[in-house]
Amino acid sequence: MKYNSPRIKILNKKSILKVIHENHPISRSDISEVTGLTPSSVTRLTKELIDEGYIREIGTMGKNSPGRRRILLDLRKNAFLSLVFDIGVNITTYGIGFFDGEVEPRGTFNTPKEPVEFFNIVKEIYERISGEYRISRISLSVPGMVDMEEKKILLAPNLEWENVNIKELLKVDVPVLADNEANLSMLAEKYHSEDLRNVKEAVFIIIREGVGTGLMIDGKIFRGPSFTAGEAGHMTVNMYSDRQCHCSNWGCWELVSSINWTIEQYGKELPGKNAIEKFQALKQRNDAKRILMKFAENIAVGIVNLVNILNPELVILGGEVVDLGENFLDIIKDFVHQRALKAAVKDLKIRTTEFRNISSNLVGAAVLAVEDIIEEVK
Ligand SMILES: [Zn+2]
Repeated sequence: MKYNSPRIKILNKKSILKVIHENHPISRSDISEVTGLTPSSVTRLTKELIDEGYIREIGTMGKNSPGRRRILLDLRKNAFLSLVFDIGVNITTYGIGFFDGEVEPRGTFNTPKEPVEFFNIVKEIYERISGEYRISRISLSVPGMVDMEEKKILLAPNLEWENVNIKELLKVDVPVLADNEANLSMLAEKYHSEDLRNVKEAVFIIIREGVGTGLMIDGKIFRGPSFTAGEAGHMTVNMYSDRQCHCSNWGCWELVSSINWTIEQYGKELPGKNAIEKFQALKQRNDAKRILMKFAENIAVGIVNLVNILNPELVILGGEVVDLGENFLDIIKDFVHQRALKAAVKDLKIRTTEFRNISSNLVGAAVLAVEDIIEEVK
């Protein structure tokens, strides 16, 4: 195959777009350095990508340094739009994902118990929004396991959805993507967080009505051959437990580290229509402080296991625990540092997610759509 064959050219264009997606904004010379393509190839291919509307020049860097000013490139915000959904056990949030990674929330609705009803609402929203914007993808964050190739929700235990065939229930004229919410949160952090730029191994733990983890191994989201990797909520932390999990195992980590555990332990009446609202109320109660401290330790037990197995540089906490404050996080950090392998925690950082006003998984759903669009570049 000749070097300048069309196939190689497409691969090179994709790799330039991937580098811009991951490091935007970035100069042509940095693209050349990261991709290994010659500066003249980068100049030629970025010109094509600008002409085709994928990217744009956004000004310069290095004004105060000697030498040449370098023009920076970024993805063009409105080049492709996606309609993104964060399926919550009780509330679903949706928004518009832009090609440069920005996400604009547009609304919420109560998650119906029946998948058929849920996808009818998704379709209605798609039809309404596509009258206003040209949508290229629909991308769904699911609180459960998703077969991304077959487009099937294998199991979303807290929703009691099993083997839900998205292709059958959502017939639309654009590709539909779906992934687990913790995987998408990890993906969002990978593309948006400064401290992950040079990190290859990281774990995102999402704590809501259930507990899920997204694993980044060697810089990539690790999903496993049948898409169940990262179901750390179902690792056994108490093999003598007499409590059975909805996954059918006993003594799962999720049984003591989801927000449901705190509500059960508290035992008294709390205002709120669902677990998330009740947990919001519980957080304000003085007589729940000891439960929250124990909750931090329960979460830490699972982190010790994950750290010993995966040796990540970064553990990120997301979901309903992000606003519990430094004290809560310190209990977790101290516990993990005392209990995990010394060599494994040497350079370990534990922090909460950088996404606060918008959910990490909604942002991740938009990132997934951008990755998919880049794969189709011709
Ligand atoms: Zn389980």
